[in-house]
Amino acid sequence: MISLSAYSRVVIFTGAGMSAESGVPTYRGRGGIWNQYRYEDYACERAFRRNADAVLDFHEVRRERVLACAPHDGHFHLAKLQERHPDLAIVTQNIDRMHQRAGARVAAELHGSLWRRRCPTHGISEDAESGQFRTPQCQRCGATLRPDSGRSEDAGDHGVFAAAERLIAQCDLFVSIGTSAIVMPAASLIPFDRRPRPRLVEINPEETEASAGFEESWRERASRLGDLVGA
Ligand code: NAD
Repeated sequence: MISLSAYSRVVIFTGAGMSAESGVPTYRGRGGIWNQYRYEDYACERAFRRNADAVLDFHEVRRERVLACAPHDGHFHLAKLQERHPDLAIVTQNIDRMHQRAGARVAAELHGSLWRRRCPTHGISEDAESGQFRTPQCQRCGATLRPDSGRSEDAGDHGVFAAAERLIAQCDLFVSIGTSAIVMPAASLIPFDRRPRPRLVEINPEETEASAGFEESWRERASRLGDLVGA
């Protein structure tokens, strides 16, 4: 068990495995979304330019699917830890807002959110929290708003990455939960090469390509976080 009180700056870095036990499908592997839909047809900027309706419908289906899921004990435990340690920073690759639904604050949503749409010219235009979007168009230029979620070549928010980098540069404990650590550039944020090196812990039931770089790899599920990390 790690006790957070032994550290001054903690970063919790989460991926799709964090929400797997809530029933939110991952992208790859068994039950993964990309087995059913092609990313190139439904999720990237090029797909949006080809067929905006298909992309918007796809995201609507995903929002409904995520709303039918609920945060699990691991999400709630993180929110409780943050009450005791307000500096605890959550940096997530997830777009499902499960951390926030459990009551946690997220310092950086690296890949955006299913509940945000953006105008390509004017940046973020609408955040629907977990409700409905008010308007399909940018209020300034009339462009159709596109989902603000997706892979890094689509996501335009370099400020979010920079904020995550700053937090990670200062941390003395970095805990990675439920990520395969292969999606770049998010995976490059894991501070393997930083000196002095923070304590680096991986929580994942499976070995990943990045496992060898961590000091400790705990083959555990995210929902067991309460037994693994304490205040
Ligand atoms: P990934 O699908 O590549 O890897 C998931 C990892 O989670 C695997 O290593 C797996 O072993 C592990 N895992 C599975 N069950 C777990 C559990 N119960 N506890 C802990 N770990 C568990 O996911 P990724 O590394 O986040 O990268 C994929 C991309 O997919 C990211 O860009 C992310 O934005 C996106 N994504 C997000 C969601 C979401 O918002 N929930 C869902 C699917 C994909």
